[in-house]
Parts: sequence; C-alpha cells; structure tokens
Amino acid sequence: MGGFREVGRSCLFLQTPNSKVILDCGVNVAGVDDKTSYPYLNVPEFNLHDLDAVIVTHAHLDHTGFVPYLYHYGYEGPTYCTTPTRDLMTLLQQDHIDISHREDNPLPFNIKDVKESINKTICLDYGEVTDISPDIRLTLHNAGHIVGSAMAHLHIGDGKHNFVYTGDFKNEKSRLLEPSVTRFPRIESMVMESTYGGHEDVTPTRNTAEKELIKTIYSTLNRGGKVLIPVFAVGRAQEIMIVLEEYINHGILKDVPVYLDGMIWEATAIHTAHPEYLSNDLRDQIFHVGKNPFISEVFKKVTNPEQRRDIIESDEPCVILSTSGMLTGGNSVEYFKNICEDEKNTIIFVGYQSEGSLGRRIQKGWEEVPMDDDGVTRLYHINLEVTTIDGFSGHSDRKQLMEYVRRLSPKPDKILVCHGDAYKALDLASSIYRSYKIETKTPMNLETTRLQ
Ligand SMILES: [Zn+2]
Ligand SMILES: [Zn+2]
Repeated sequence: MGGFREVGRSCLFLQTPNSKVILDCGVNVAGVDDKTSYPYLNVPEFNLHDLDAVIVTHAHLDHTGFVPYLYHYGYEGPTYCTTPTRDLMTLLQQDHIDISHREDNPLPFNIKDVKESINKTICLDYGEVTDISPDIRLTLHNAGHIVGSAMAHLHIGDGKHNFVYTGDFKNEKSRLLEPSVTRFPRIESMVMESTYGGHEDVTPTRNTAEKELIKTIYSTLNRGGKVLIPVFAVGRAQEIMIVLEEYINHGILKDVPVYLDGMIWEATAIHTAHPEYLSNDLRDQIFHVGKNPFISEVFKKVTNPEQRRDIIESDEPCVILSTSGMLTGGNSVEYFKNICEDEKNTIIFVGYQSEGSLGRRIQKGWEEVPMDDDGVTRLYHINLEVTTIDGFSGHSDRKQLMEYVRRLSPKPDKILVCHGDAYKALDLASSIYRSYKIETKTPMNLETTRLQ
C-alpha cells in the first residue's frame, strides 16, 4: 500500500486464510500532498475493523508516521515492535505533529492518537516468538539499521509458509549496532529494501569514512573554524558522536565542545536506556569499562536561542551536530546561514540529501543561495568548505545487499524488492535473479502478489 518503487510511506498488507496484518505504516515526509504523502489505505480489500495486527520494523517516520492514523479511525488492536522502536517512534511522531502545526499543515490525527497507539503497543525482544493472529507467529530479528530496528519473520499456518520482511537494514557492523541477521529457521518468500540497490551505489567502508571525517574536522579546527554536521536525530547522530568522543578522548582531535542541537539529545538518551540493543563492543564498554561515550563531557546540549547565538558569535572553534539532516528547516539552517560566508568554516554532509533540498544544492556546489534573513530573502555567499562523506549510512550499499542474499540461509524461493527508486529496485531485482537464480519481482504500489 506504499513504499514500492519509491522511498517513503512504507506499508505492506498481508492476508492469509485466517488473518490480516499490516507491516509498517509510514509517511513520505517529502510528499507534496496527501496523495503522495500517505499510504493507500482506501483500497476495498482493506478494512481497519478486521485488521488483526500491525507490525513496525523501526522508528523512522517513513515506517511509523501513519500508525496513529489507524487508531484515529477506529483500529483497536495491537502494534508489535521492539522497546527502543516504541520509545523513538513516540518521540518522532510527537515532533512530526509539532512541526506540521508550526507549518500550518496539520496531520489527519493528533497527539491523543499517538498516546493511544503507545498504549496498544506490545514490545518484543529479538528472537521472542509470539502468536499475533490465528495463523501467524511473529519473530523480530536485528536489522542493524538504527537502534531497535528489526526484520520481521512470519511463520504462517503451522509453518506452511515462512515470510521475511527486512525493513531497512545494514549488512555491516557499525559503531552502534551488529550487522543484520542472515539466518532464519525457514524462508519461502522475502520482501527486501533497495535504497542503495543501483549498481553505482557502492560506498566507502566505515573505516575510510571515519578517517575522512576526522581529517576534515582536524584541519578546520586548526585554522580556527567551526564544523557543522547536519544530521537526522536518530542513527547517524549517535554514530558520529561515538567517533568524535573516541578521537577527542585519545587526544587526536582538539578538545573542543561538540554541540548537540535538535532532538539528538533525547534520541541519544533512548539509546543509553537500551544498551542491550547496541553492538557488543559498545555494550561492553558501557557495562564493563563503565564508559558510556554518550554521556561524555565533550557533548553540550543547546537548549535556547541565546545559547545558539553565543555559539555563533564566539571565535572559538567547535563542532555542531544539528537537525534537520538535509537543511530543510530546523536549527541546522540557522547555523549554516551564520557560518557559510566565512571560509574558515566547514559543513560536512554524512547522510542522504534529497533532490530539491537546500543540502543538495550546497552539495552540488552552488556559490550563492537565497535564504531568509529576518523576514527578507537575501543571497548568501557560500565560502565555507563543503565536504560530503559517504559510508555512514544506515542502509546496506549495493555490494552489501548482494552479499546479504548470498549469505542468506536458507534461501527464499521468491524475493520482492521494495523501498528504492524504481530503477534501483529493478536493477537490484535483476542482479539477484542473474546471480542466485532466485525468482524476483519489483511490485508497484497497489499491486497484489500471491506468495503461495
Ligand atoms: Zn529507516
Ligand atoms: Zn525507510
């Protein structure tokens, strides 16, 4: 019902002889109207009142942003996810409602529905097997994408059919998380993501990306500049924090303040509250060595406009992590306006910049950009250093996606590809077929596929 041959509003409707469930129910935050922003819930086959369960793979809004809508229109059943997903999605859904009110573009549900959906959420640990409907048994497994992210394994009709939905996943160990799970008891069919499924989507390793990050920050601080890193509040921010803390602690980077602005602080607190969902190294470091990098003194929370003003006006070099990640609003734009005309400073992009965003324009090398200056639009000159570092993504790149299917055990008979631009999804599907002789399909939104 959404998220096929596109990225955003992920929503799958799965029907078995005795049950009806939804896997993810997201929004497209870059959508221009209701038709492009929300999943297609108005199909005749779908009726809210005979839905047995909702399964949510991870907290990002393109997978959870429309869950409260289901409760607003009378769904009373459970939503299944991990505990960190429940906590993070509450934070992101509330923020989404706040932002849409501020922008005078209210969502078709409200904060009461968010509360209702939280009350109806049933949290499952990885590996915990649960009957969710008369003929479906659900197990969640680590997906390595963000904290609490899961792949959903559905054991249907006494094991007649086993279905896996990957959600978003990272098939590589990161600072924060273990790589996604590749072994399942059985799989007949699978739906997998393809965000970086195009053959050209090969990104550098984490190690190379980290070195590049540190080198860029090092030279900026040495010339007395400020570094701005626009980030998503959940995932990339924490990954970058761990790297910075380590290099500052080892004296490789100057001991400068690292400012966190936006919801990063709250999202980080949720990571700290669930160390059992973090990578083995990080968990050991927190539990046994007693060193939690997230509570290090190098990190300073920015809470008010005066503090922001002080940071901008001070001559002291520093690093600033701020939302939004694509400079589509939020305080990252505020910082950018104030530091972009000075060549001492640097902006580092560590995440995807969508077409049309301010981030993308700067990345492309625009020399001037129009931005709001106290109610009037003026042209700002872009004199600061602009750097893009790939390799910090929470998604598998093309090589990791192919490697994932190679390592999958057992192999499914059929793979459906989702969560990618049309040509990337098609490219990945045909490569999987050619390399592994597994039947593949790249459905469109509203297309029905018989699995057995
Ligand atoms: Zn995601
Ligand atoms: Zn996604």
